[in-house]
Amino acid sequence: MALSVWEGGKAKEAAPAIRKAVNNAKLNILEIRRGCGSWECGCGRAHTLPFLVVGKSGSVEVVLKPAPQGLGRAVGDVAKIILRMAGIEDAWGFAKGHTKTTVNYALATFDALRQTSIMKINPALKLSTPIYAGSVANAGSVKS
Ligand SMILES: [Zn+2]
Repeated sequence: MALSVWEGGKAKEAAPAIRKAVNNAKLNILEIRRGCGSWECGCGRAHTLPFLVVGKSGSVEVVLKPAPQGLGRAVGDVAKIILRMAGIEDAWGFAKGHTKTTVNYALATFDALRQTSIMKINPALKLSTPIYAGSVANAGSVKS
């Protein structure tokens, strides 16, 4: 699943600022890896995170944990939207710091999701549950 943020769009008027933000977002798309990292579940489907991730932005630190199928997104309202866009159906979330600063809360969540893609996973390892990349529609077929 690809995800990006609207960050750093600045201009004197609204329309060019939005255009710049969209351009920046398109240049910062990243692929998120999903899987069933939940001890309680272990179904092997791409419904949650493959492992625990931590993200930071400003004072905000976000921890996202794999959750069993059907639990839903047990996170704050801002993180909920981002997880939905990322195709993560179930997760536990914990946040520290000034989460009222919506931009930092959003960026910290984005940073946490980025950890799923920058973590190096040795292909020789036999994982008990597969890790998926790619679109939500292909959740059952694309492995990485
Ligand atoms: Zn599962």
